Amino acid sequence: MATTRQELTPKQRQRLADFIAPFLVKPGSKVNLAKDFDPGFKAGLKNKKAGVALLEEGVRLLSEYQARLAAQDTWGVLVVLQALDAAGKDGTIRHVMSGVNPQGVQVHSFKVPSAEELGHDFLWRYARRLPARGDIGIFNRSHYEEVLVVRVHPENLDRQRLPNASRRGDIWGRRYREINDWERYLSDNGFRIVKLFLNLSREEQRVRFLRRLDLPDHNWKFSTADARERERWDDYQRAFSEMLSHTSTDWAPWNVIPADRKWFARIAVGAVLVTTLLEIDPRFPAVTKQQRAALTEVKQALEAQAPKGAAPDPFEQTRREANEAAKEMPRGDGKPQPPPVTDDANAGERPVERGE
Ligand code: AMP
Ligand code: MG
Repeated sequence: MATTRQELTPKQRQRLADFIAPFLVKPGSKVNLAKDFDPGFKAGLKNKKAGVALLEEGVRLLSEYQARLAAQDTWGVLVVLQALDAAGKDGTIRHVMSGVNPQGVQVHSFKVPSAEELGHDFLWRYARRLPARGDIGIFNRSHYEEVLVVRVHPENLDRQRLPNASRRGDIWGRRYREINDWERYLSDNGFRIVKLFLNLSREEQRVRFLRRLDLPDHNWKFSTADARERERWDDYQRAFSEMLSHTSTDWAPWNVIPADRKWFARIAVGAVLVTTLLEIDPRFPAVTKQQRAALTEVKQALEAQAPKGAAPDPFEQTRREANEAAKEMPRGDGKPQPPPVTDDANAGERPVERGE
């Protein structure tokens, strides 16, 4: 069986799977963040330079697969990014998504909830920002703040004006379950959820805060609230560990991304996203025989309208030349494939590929 020209070889797929395996939080496992995950891990890569080609390859694959995802318009992808301050969420989004068509990606940053948002159930504002089919939605902070900052600072919970009955007992256990149920519902409906926790060490955060204070162009990124949050480091580590232990599920597992090296975090995030898209394996929709016939009819009508002296179809020659060139070059020009022609409409999801 032929593969599409851009598909990774089984060996490349295995390498990708091996690369991301250490990031996965096994569903049902009990996580102690400080013990179980090293923020300085770099998978044997020497330095930033050694990772450049990997990042570029990731960006290229994401761009191609995003185009297919949009064309197929069946699956959606929700990327959930959580981290401590200065872990590099913004830069990661900027670098990893740099090759992707902006029309197919939406980023939402969740801040302190507004009065309107506080007037609703806790998942309401996140549900309103979910991606549509064919899109990649990125949550820069997410519904997980509801079991992180809200847990570490209970005054946030007071502002949510819950009835007493809803606050009694194990409210965090209930929230984990509700989040898991919500994510299961979304994944049952064709939305894949990619959860990424950027794991930063206390020392690297100290250094990054100092950089923000020392460099005038970076001052805006620092708020005194960040320093106050740092004082609650242990409480946050506990809240993260609990979150990872209770909300890494078969349908939406967590990935803990080592974040002390920005360049490594970007490669790692790219690799997890590419893996998800490979699993979805979106295809350009196939054109059926009937559709092809209709297109041919329109084409003939347009050709008949050519004014005197003009070529009936100026693209015909270019296309012929491109086809000739493609025949001579069987693999690897790196461009998305045009839709193949198939014999029946039912072949839609897994079309016969060119060159088969
Ligand atoms: P930043 O991402 O640096 O712009 O900061 C956004 C701020 O909003 C952070 O301090 C978050 O802790 C806070 N925030 C986000 N979501 C919530 C929430 N659900 N409840 C309370 N604070 C939140
Ligand atoms: Mg901030």
